[in-house]
Parts: sequence; C-alpha cells; structure tokens
Amino acid sequence: MKPYRIETTCVQGGYTPKNGEPRQIPIVQSTTFKYDTGEDMGKLFDLEASGYFYTRLQNPTNDYVAAKIADLEGGTAAMLTSSGQAANFFAMFNLASCGDHMVASSSIYGGTFNLISVTMAKMGIETTFVSPDCTDEELNAAFRPNTKLVFGETIANPALTVLDIEQFAKAAHAHGVPLIIDNTFATPVNCRPIEWGADIVTHSTTKYMDGHGVSVGGAIVDGGKFDWMAHKDKFPGLCTPDESYHGITYAEKFGMDGAFITKCTAQLMRDFGSIQSPQHAFYLNLGLESLHVRMERHCENGQKVAEFLQKHPKVERVSYCGLPGDKYYERAKKYLPKGSCGVVSFELKGGREAASVFMNSLRLAAIETHVADARTCCLNPASTTHRQMNDEQLKAAGVPAGLVRMSCGLENADDLIDDIAQALDRVE
Ligand SMILES: *Cc1c(COP(=O)(O)O)cnc(C)c1O
Repeated sequence: MKPYRIETTCVQGGYTPKNGEPRQIPIVQSTTFKYDTGEDMGKLFDLEASGYFYTRLQNPTNDYVAAKIADLEGGTAAMLTSSGQAANFFAMFNLASCGDHMVASSSIYGGTFNLISVTMAKMGIETTFVSPDCTDEELNAAFRPNTKLVFGETIANPALTVLDIEQFAKAAHAHGVPLIIDNTFATPVNCRPIEWGADIVTHSTTKYMDGHGVSVGGAIVDGGKFDWMAHKDKFPGLCTPDESYHGITYAEKFGMDGAFITKCTAQLMRDFGSIQSPQHAFYLNLGLESLHVRMERHCENGQKVAEFLQKHPKVERVSYCGLPGDKYYERAKKYLPKGSCGVVSFELKGGREAASVFMNSLRLAAIETHVADARTCCLNPASTTHRQMNDEQLKAAGVPAGLVRMSCGLENADDLIDDIAQALDRVE
C-alpha cells in the first residue's frame, strides 16, 4: 500500500492500537519500567535490545508522537525534546564538538542565534553566518576543513525570509556535511525539507504543531539519507566506538536510518536530560491531529491580513511571502506552494509611537511574546524583545522601531481585519 497522505498521517500516524487497546495514545505516566531479570535489563543498557527503562531516555508516549512527526517529515527516526532550543542544540551538538565549526544562515530565531553565537562559542564551536540570500560563491567560502554542519530555517522567525533549501543542501553535501533545517514555521504540511535535500529537521513544537499555546516542546527528525561512514574522518562520534556504550559504533550498528537519533538519545538525552514529559507529548499529539486543517486557515488569515495591510495608507511596508512583489514570493512558490504560515510583519509609518498606539488599541489581537497559536497575537520588537536598542541600531538589525509582528490565529479573518482597521484609525 502507498504511504498515506499527510492529512491522514496527522490524524492517525505513529500509533496503531491492536485489538482491545486504547484508541487514543496512552499516556505512560511512569518514570521507570519493570523487568523480570537483571540480564533482560542489561541488554537494554548495552543497546543490544530496544525497550524502555527510564523516562529520561525514552517513553512509549513520546515515541508514538515522535514516530508520527518522523512520518510527517518523511524521515526514518525522530525524538522529542523538552523545547525547540533543546532540539536545535542537540541536533548541532550531536555532530559538532570543541574545535569544530558550523555554517549558519544569519536569518534565524534570536534564541538559536544566541545559542550558536554565545553559548556554543563558549564550548569551543565556532560559526560563520551567511545571508540566506548569499551567492554560491559566498556560501562555499564559509566552509572550513573542520566544518561539521550547515543550519538554517525554512521560514525564519521573525524576519520571514525563505531559505533556498536546495542551494544550502548542495553546498553542505559538496563539503561532506549534512544540512539541518528548523522547519517550525512552515511545518511539514507546507514544506518537507528532506525532499529538498535537508538531512536533519528540527522543530519548536511549541508553535504550530502544538498550536494552542499549551506546552513547550521540540523534535528532531533524521532523514536517514546522510552516509556518515562515507565521511568517517569528519564524524568520529558516529563512526568510531563509543566507550560509554561498550564500544558500539552507531553508524555501523544502526545504519543511516537510525544512527543519528540513537546517538542523540543515548548520549545527549542521557547526559543533558531535556526530555519532553509524556503528558506534553500527549498534548502535542492532539495538536498534530488537526495541524493540516489549522495550517490552511492560518495561511488564509495571514494572506487576507497581509493584503489589507499592504493597501493601508498608514502602513509603510509588509513582509509576507504570499504577497506578489514580496522579496521571497518566487522562492515561496517553489518551496511553499500551499502557503507559508500565519505570521505577517509590517512597519507603521509613525515608528515606535505609532506601533505603541496601534497595539494598545487592538481588542482581539493580544500583545504576547509568542507566535503560531490559535489566538491572534502581536509584538513590537522595539518596545519588547529588542528594547535595549536605539532607533539606529534597530534599523541596522532589520527591525525598524515601527515594526509589528502579527501572528494570525484561527479567528474569522474579517473580525481580525476590523480589529486592525479600528486600531489603525487611532494612530495619528
Ligand atoms: C520558538 C522557536 C524556537 C525555540 O523553541 P522553544 O520551544 O521556545 O524552545 C526555535 N526555532 C524557531 C524557529 C522558533 O520559532
């Protein structure tokens, strides 16, 4: 039988109950698992048999949901983490260690930028940032002999740039390293990066996947296509024996399909412990069951709001890749044919003061440091996340003082537009 289409996988993927078993994914609320003999358990510790022994490493509820996300992305294996930050850190640190180097798009989530440029730098991992719109020459020039991976976001939060995934994958592979793509904003419903050459996909499941603003979480998916053994010298962690697991070589024992996630679980989850709770995995699965239906509405509302804003005299400029004439319109047609997401950013002509009056006048859209949930929310970076910067610095960072990021929820689009219109009326 053919693999199911993405809508069916959203609803039914990852868990198939047998005769008489619970229809909905069971929440296995147990830290530990019981065995008849010490030998049985010893085999699990040696990775000789697969099974559960302690929820810091693995739990059945998490595994059902991870299997669904792997199917959605067209990958071979996946794991859940406690947050998107943990997912991105684990995905990168599973390949790069002290003395190594990474290449990353400069247009990425602020938290990931800090993780890479401050915290991982302190760990001795250096990164060269490149523009998401760089030429092949500029991209290739960023690599060094000790480069271990390339990182970017399908649709960047908050800049809304769209990455040329094929271009970045080609450069990564030409240098013998994998491409990691954070696919949080697009979700697999709108883009499946592995089909465009990405090797590892990460998510902040906190956003659209959960979709209701109830639980922080992350996921890592392996596409299973990167041949670690063909680049043995670059990836000793995967291709030489792990003494903390009795000399197992991950790439040999678990193959291209399973080596990356097995190592990430066995080493990083064991040592850092950023596991998602089974209860949160259950909530995440409820979100996934309607992801395909919600994304369609988020995109429809984003498009309508962007079109309204673009025509409004008090709006200087709108960024939304679904608008003809947007810098990323053509690239989005290729990578995001079904739509991008519900996040629209726009600049008010009156700067910081106008943004403040506008936001305080909104009735439906709430002021929140969040995006991608069912309720529309918005943020003025100049007065919140970037408030330490003056107007000049804001401009240089590409976040002018009058910029508003609006995450369109699932409400009626006309109500959202009415709300925006009355708030714009109050701006001088
Ligand atoms: C929010 C976000 C993250 C961080 O995820 P958390 O779940 O908040 O830790 C990473 N990448 C992107 C693109 C995000 O939007």
